[in-house]
Parts: sequence; structure tokens; C-alpha cells
Amino acid sequence: MRTHLRAAAAAAATLLTVCVTVQPAMAQSVPPSSGPVPAVAPPPAPPPSSAAQQAALDACLARLRTDAIARGVPREAAERHLAGLERDPSVLESLDFQPEFRTPIWDYLAGLVDGQRVDDGRAMLERWVEVLTAVEAKHGVDAATVVAVWGVESDFGRATGRKPILRSLATLSCEGRRQAFFRNELLASLRILAAGHVDPAAFNGSWAGAFGQTQFMPTTFLEAAVDFDGDGRRDIVGTVPDALASTANYLRRAGWRTGEPWGWEVRLPEGFDASLAGRTKRRPLADWASRGVRRVDGRPLDASQTASALLLPAGPAGPAFVVLRNFDAVYAYNAAESYALAIVHLADRLRGGGPFVTPWPTDDPGLSRAERRELQTLLLARGHAIGEADGLIGSNTRRAIRAEQARIGLPQDGRAGMKLLTALRRDPPGTPR
Ligand code: CA
Repeated sequence: MRTHLRAAAAAAATLLTVCVTVQPAMAQSVPPSSGPVPAVAPPPAPPPSSAAQQAALDACLARLRTDAIARGVPREAAERHLAGLERDPSVLESLDFQPEFRTPIWDYLAGLVDGQRVDDGRAMLERWVEVLTAVEAKHGVDAATVVAVWGVESDFGRATGRKPILRSLATLSCEGRRQAFFRNELLASLRILAAGHVDPAAFNGSWAGAFGQTQFMPTTFLEAAVDFDGDGRRDIVGTVPDALASTANYLRRAGWRTGEPWGWEVRLPEGFDASLAGRTKRRPLADWASRGVRRVDGRPLDASQTASALLLPAGPAGPAFVVLRNFDAVYAYNAAESYALAIVHLADRLRGGGPFVTPWPTDDPGLSRAERRELQTLLLARGHAIGEADGLIGSNTRRAIRAEQARIGLPQDGRAGMKLLTALRRDPPGTPR
């Protein structure tokens, strides 16, 4: 759930550009994917805070406490939850972090929609079938879509983030270039705790404050989280039915249409004008059909007036998609087309669908999480000090990959792809370098 964060980043950058001279890169400095599968490893740990920096934070928090109480947060909650918070310099580093490596969409999707996630998701569909059926009846969003969001946002509740939300938001409310935005989130987080929705000891999440199995920002929680098990608490951290229903409720509020597909993978006719592609360039479905666009299963598109758009995520040589309103509802959850495509594709796979029919335009496909761990294990066996084989491709792993690419004679781009994995599999440790 980075939507509101990203919108605020853009708005803040626009304002700042008017008022003062700023670096043009500011508008792009929020990582495109700060969720469960980061495109890059976090930046190295910043130096510890000085006593003066901590004192400045304490003074700022005293002002925020007064403000929160004035805005209706119970005094006891404001005093308790804003007391003794230590400054966390790492979240300020994350705020300004510029990824040095842009992830190709086929790598992004290979890590998010892999065999393990499909198997896990099918198991969750079975395990939570009664809840998911009730969620669909109440909120109108199908089980596969809800489970797909759950899998991508938090790996089905296993990866919800470890940073204490209050500490992160307190730091970001008092330092850095987005303080107004984060103060609003801090205020919302105090309201959540004061109402007793979430266990304070379990109130952890991403560096920016997204938390729980749905990775909602605190303000989004207040708007969209629901109490589905009826215990009076909207607990998206510790209660799976609340988390699943909250996801469905968010999507419904974002315009989800019950029973309508998200869209389809399609095939384009020869000579198709690729400039017609774009998520906001909407046309009637009948218009695409009349231009010769067909579903990859050979069936025609409905000759209806339903608004739809054509996506070419890797250009005209890669897979093509016609998307409807429900794709936009998923896009609202996290404003990236690659993210929305991961969700809807995972949902299709959970329903028994196969991989995309048209291959990505690359001769070096992306790796699943299991393959990333295997690649790291092979790098470790060759003596590269990259830490643990955790499947996260960070700067140490990229450095080791570049060294091996140089040795093998591949382009030294630091990318974890199938060509390098295949080469290292054939080339056991002990082979002279
Ligand atoms: Ca509940």
C-alpha cells in the first residue's frame, strides 16, 4: 500500500518546485516497490544518532503530542505511545534512497508470481475457503484476487515488515522532506492504537509505515480496514479474516466490479499501432476487437462499449493485455502497472491459469525466489561474501554477480538472470577462476 505515499510525494515535490530550487529527481525518489519483494536491498546502515539529534526529536515529539491531543487523540494514548521513541536514521536513508538498478518487468514478475507463491496461494484458498466465501458475499471481490494481494503484499502474512511503526513515523514526522505527510500518518497510527485495533507490541511494518498483512498505511487503515470476525477490533496484523476483508473492502471502494474480469492477455494483428497503448487511453472493447485484437485463447473480445485499455509493459514485442475497470482498482492499491499485473496474473494462476502465452522479449529470463536462493548459494560456494542466501538481490549479491559475469564472459550488468544461473550450475566450485 504505497498509493497515498506516492501521491503525496508527487504533490510535495510539485509544491517544493514552485517554492524553492530542488533536485529534479525528488519526485521519483520514492522506491517504485518498497513492498515485500524489494527491487534492491536497503541502503547500508546510517551512522547512529547524536545526542543533539535525539534531543531535537524529543522536542518535536512534545509538540506533536500536544497537537495530537488537540485533535482528539486521548491524552493517555498520545503520552504513552509518543514517549521514549528513539530516532531511526535508517528510515531517512530509505526516504532518499535512489535504486541503482532498475528491475526489468520479467524479473519483477518472476519473483512475485513463482511456483512457490502459486502453491502457497492455492493452499490458502483451501484453508480460508469459508472466510473468503463470506468476504466475497459481503464485499464482492473474488477469493483468488484477495489471496493474490495477500501473497504479494505480505507473503500471506509472513513478511509484514519489522520496523516499529511509531518510531519510523516519529522520525519521518520530524526530519526529512515529507514531514507533513508523515505527521498525518503518525496521527492516524495513534488513533489506531488508542482504539485498541492492533497490539502495540506487534505494530511493525515497512520503513514508511505500511503495516499488517494488507500493508495499509495508517490513514488507509482508518478509511478501509474492517472488523470481519466481529470482535470489535479491526486487526489487520493478527486476524486473517480482518485482513482479507479489509483488502476486499479497499478494492470495492476503489471501484471493483463484481464478476467482471480484470482483462485478458491478447494478441495484436500485424502492423498494429503501438501508440494506442496506455492504461489511461481508454476505448470501447468493441474498438479493440474491430482493430483485430484477439484474446490469446483465440476467442474474440466482447463487442461491447465497456471502457478498456491496452497495455504493452515491455513494448510491442512482448506480451499485450487489454485491461478493464478491475485492473484499475488493483492499480489503486499500489500505483504501478507492474504491481497490478502481478496481482491479476497471480489471481489467474490461482484459478488454474497458465503463464503468459507471449514470452517476454529477452533471451535471459528472470528467476523465481527459489532460483535466486540457488544462485546465491552458488555464489557463496565460489567464495563470494554475500551473507545469507535469502533470495533478496542486494548490492553485495550484484557485486558478486558482476564478478562472475566478467569471469564467464557475460555482460557485467549485475542482474540475477537465468543465463548466469545456468552457467554457474555447470561450473561447480573449485573450477579455476
Ligand atoms: Ca476483528
